[in-house]
Amino acid sequence: MHVRYSYLSQQFADIGGLMAEIEALVRSGDFTLGEPLARFEASFAALLGARHAIGVGSGTDALKLPLRALGIGPGDEVITTANTFIATVGAIAEVGATPVFVDCDDTFCMDVGQVQAAITPRTRAIMPVHYTGYMTDMPRLVEIAKGHDLPIVEDACQAILADIGGKRAGTWGIAGGFSLHPLKNLNVWGDGGVIITDDDAMAAQLRLLRNHGMVNRDEIAVLGYNSRLDTLQAVVGNWLIPHTEAIAQARIDNAAYYDAALAEIPGVTLPPRGPGMRRVYHLYIVFAEDRDALLAHCLANGIEAKVHYPIPVYRQRALAHLGHREGDFPVADRHTKNIITFPCDQHLSRIEQDHVIATVREFYGAAR
Ligand SMILES: *Cc1c(COP(=O)(O)O)cnc(C)c1O
Repeated sequence: MHVRYSYLSQQFADIGGLMAEIEALVRSGDFTLGEPLARFEASFAALLGARHAIGVGSGTDALKLPLRALGIGPGDEVITTANTFIATVGAIAEVGATPVFVDCDDTFCMDVGQVQAAITPRTRAIMPVHYTGYMTDMPRLVEIAKGHDLPIVEDACQAILADIGGKRAGTWGIAGGFSLHPLKNLNVWGDGGVIITDDDAMAAQLRLLRNHGMVNRDEIAVLGYNSRLDTLQAVVGNWLIPHTEAIAQARIDNAAYYDAALAEIPGVTLPPRGPGMRRVYHLYIVFAEDRDALLAHCLANGIEAKVHYPIPVYRQRALAHLGHREGDFPVADRHTKNIITFPCDQHLSRIEQDHVIATVREFYGAAR
């Protein structure tokens, strides 16, 4: 049996009236900052319970623009996690600031207990990453940030509809960034991102920054970017957004199904699954003994398992100038050797999950 990782052909197999809406857009010529974008932003804000949603060109820009709006630039430091996807670090670097890492813990998010020690006189913001769809310990991080008067910009790109005690990812800081990339839980037909904020001044600044800093066609208030969410992608977003909750719940159900079976297999350890947090499993990751051999066994049995990632971002060649070396962030280092990702998306079938479970069980020679 083949258990694929990408489910995009299933996601867009039945697109109903979507092509007719795309055609209507083409006929209208309303391509940039069009009416469907305004509708998408209103729906997105309502979905997250935020005051404002601003569509931008990518998830990376959804992190970069809030940093710019906060006036962060060269000489400034932004604290984030040592194990995130490169885009978090890229956004910080693009405004000219320096990423300062703290280690993650076994939830794959920032070990908030290490943030205090990473704060320097140059620290200007904290960018927690709700990595894999887990949430960073935001109640504690908010306290620390308040104590130092530091803004929080959340990287919620993998965590749409995750929450702690009902308070959603992206709504804890001054702004939260989301990605609409095809690999994300709410995925359009190319690049896209959304920023949410409750702060009116921040929202106004973001709307300027994404559109060249233009107040209107004759007046430029600030030097900005060309980073609008395409209206065409907003049309796709409008079609998909009513399904976002069902997508999250399907992933949660699939994760629970895996958890129940994998927890019984010696050699597999689940990450902490404590109460009070809603995890949306953008990535379903467990810890596995003899991981490389398990990964090879899965691949040989048709399962597109993956490792996110074999090299932590802090040790990537592109960041050599930061002078880090292996061992600086030991939890992130350990994870590279024992994590494995299994498909967990909303289109995965129980039959496919059973094949994954049976294959892992067989690898460890565990009895049923
Ligand atoms: C996807 C992602 C981003 C942004 O990616 P884009 O490809 O620019 O949309 C940022 N941070 C994390 C953790 C991500 O997974």
